[in-house]
Amino acid sequence: MLKTPQKLQEMVDAIHASVAVVEQHEHEYIILACNERFKKMLGENPPFTPYCSLNSILVTSVANTLLRFLPEVFDTDEPVELEQAFEKGQQSNWWRLFLKPMAHPHGHLKRVMITGINMDDKVALESEINKRGARYSSVVKGAFDAIITMDRYQTINYFNRAAEIIFEYSADEIIGKPITSLMPVRHREHHSEYVEEFNHEEISSRDMGERIQIYGLKKSGNEFAAEISISKIFVEGEPEFTAIIRDVSQRTQLLDELKFKLNTDYLTGLRNRNYLDHKLISMSNRFTRYGFNFSLLMIDLDHFKQINDTYGHLVGDEILKFFADAATGLLREGDKIARFGGEEFTVILPGTRLNVAKLIATRLCEHIYEQVFIGQDEQKIPFTISIGVVEYEPQDDVKSILKRADEALYRAKIDGRNCISD
Ligand code: GH3
Ligand code: MG
Ligand code: MG
Repeated sequence: MLKTPQKLQEMVDAIHASVAVVEQHEHEYIILACNERFKKMLGENPPFTPYCSLNSILVTSVANTLLRFLPEVFDTDEPVELEQAFEKGQQSNWWRLFLKPMAHPHGHLKRVMITGINMDDKVALESEINKRGARYSSVVKGAFDAIITMDRYQTINYFNRAAEIIFEYSADEIIGKPITSLMPVRHREHHSEYVEEFNHEEISSRDMGERIQIYGLKKSGNEFAAEISISKIFVEGEPEFTAIIRDVSQRTQLLDELKFKLNTDYLTGLRNRNYLDHKLISMSNRFTRYGFNFSLLMIDLDHFKQINDTYGHLVGDEILKFFADAATGLLREGDKIARFGGEEFTVILPGTRLNVAKLIATRLCEHIYEQVFIGQDEQKIPFTISIGVVEYEPQDDVKSILKRADEALYRAKIDGRNCISD
């Protein structure tokens, strides 16, 4: 329905945007009605009077723009929509302007409704998004960890620089390929189940490193130990997974080396006292829980002080190594030999009762007796060992079995050495 200026004014006042209705009179654009928001859009204090022309209040660049586009709308009857920044003092404001033709009550002169919507919030949001995006991409690009995203079908769709270095694939060649290409074959089968499971879980991130041992597969086919954390986000309703993968092979290797050193005797390469103490605790627990028997040999090289005194300490060291190799060669895979300290050694014989342990000890004693260590000057240095043999008893603990083994060894020494005693 066509409206009088009064009605027009009521209408524009009710609109929650800046609105004006203008009519063309030759080269002038008369403002038939406009609301307060529109006045504000044009400037701080525009000289508005009833039915003033837009041309007369050309105080802002908004008005300039309007005058540029209005003739086009009146001529073509086509609406125009534009988005532009307008300077207002020191700051610039963004506005989206809609110039929409309206019919005139008498049919010939047309009116145009101008609507302006302030875009500052949108522009600020876009700028914030751009800033965040730039920040995100610089973090992702510069990260030391591989950052890989994949879709719900486990197809890789993002691969950062660190991922390229760690996995030896370029982003171009791996994007579009399944994530399983980056895993050793043995881990591939269950991977899709994990992803499906995670897909249906409520949580959006979890540390998979604790749940499964992760290994990555490089393009060259080499495996490496890795730590992985994975998160799930929804992009346009579809789940997307981001995996952050850290190559921990160096750390794992270092830890393995440290663990090895902690439990290894540097001279003989056998396990050491630290290992023995821990192993005895676990064997004792196994006995208590499951009745799992085991026996212990306490071995001491006979007259070793004399060997040292005669041939020197370095030869003594060589003989300790020689013994370690000879004993290891004779024992079974599951028997755990360790250097207890000095020229004393222990052997844990899992699942072995006393009578069998004594047979093994006797065999070891005889074997060493039959060996002859040959020194640097081709000198033959025979040596013998004495062994105390005990089986873990229900009333035992780690301390008491070691004490009983020591006492048994002492008896073997008393018995003349190169022998065993229980
Ligand atoms: P027994 O038959 O009673 O065991 O006599 P023994 O001389 O072997 O006993 P004793 O405990 O008196 O001497 C042990 C010797 O072992 C003394 C020590 O110098 C030597 N020894 C301990 N650790 C090492 C080592 O790492 N290298 C060398 N070369 N000798 C060691
Ligand atoms: Mg000794
Ligand atoms: Mg000795």
